[in-house]
Amino acid sequence: MDVHNKETRSYNMSCIKGKNTKPEEIVRKYLFSHGLRYRKNDKKLPGTPDIVLPKYKTVIFVNGCFWHGHENCRYFVVPKTNTEFWTNKIETNRQRDNRKINDLKRLGWNVIVIWECQLKKYVIEDTLNAVLNGILHEND
Ligand SMILES: [Zn+2]
Repeated sequence: MDVHNKETRSYNMSCIKGKNTKPEEIVRKYLFSHGLRYRKNDKKLPGTPDIVLPKYKTVIFVNGCFWHGHENCRYFVVPKTNTEFWTNKIETNRQRDNRKINDLKRLGWNVIVIWECQLKKYVIEDTLNAVLNGILHEND
């Protein structure tokens, strides 16, 4: 007999899969530890931002360098095969990103984009500090 109900099982799975903490989780934990409270993946907002801080009217996207086409980034390299397919796909993602950022700004949100490469070991502290400052001092 399976003693786990569906919720429990999927929770266990996510724990196992989450062994390498996802970039957006790292950011969330950091903000939480500094007393900031947020909503996750708010579908009511354009682009479903990864982190929403209503109190500071700020949203945060954590973008993978490849999928979102981080310009001049060494982690964004267009594959040598199917180059045209990838170029088009990433360009589409880029345009969608720009559109949702503009939509959010028009709605009065402060938008912060964090790239995955900015969360690498040697830069993560600076990045998170800057993000925190950006949130806290936006309305000064
Ligand atoms: Zn990057």
